[in-house]
Amino acid sequence: MNNSDCLFCKILAGEIPANRAFEDEFCIAFPDINPQAPTHFLIVPKEHIASQAKAMAEHEPLLGHLLAAAANLARAQKLDKGYRVVINTGDDGGQTVHHLHVHLLGGRAMKWPPG
Ligand code: AMP
Ligand code: ZN
Repeated sequence: MNNSDCLFCKILAGEIPANRAFEDEFCIAFPDINPQAPTHFLIVPKEHIASQAKAMAEHEPLLGHLLAAAANLARAQKLDKGYRVVINTGDDGGQTVHHLHVHLLGGRAMKWPPG
């Protein structure tokens, strides 16, 4: 199921280190190595799904779970003033790691529209 060429599958397998802020049966969360905000975590499903564009009806509970995990992590990180949740998808979406993941960004005011 997992992809040996995939960076996040390697993190999930423990082959590349990451500080797991959270883990459950379905996902892990760890800090982004190149943070774009004072708080920047990635929430990564244990199942390799290449992108949001590849998510199917069977993934609906998992997608909900990832958003709920982001909300729990935001509360744990005390992002009381708000935060942004992002899923970069495909080339136009700026996706660089082709394993679906949710960015949790906080600790500063975000701009709109995004770049
Ligand atoms: P995206 O551009 O949406 O595909 O996001 C991929 C993210 O993974 C980027 O924000 C990178 O900074 C981050 N990243 C890449 N390698 C690592 C790593 N080894 N540990 C943590 N985050 C990483
Ligand atoms: Zn993967």
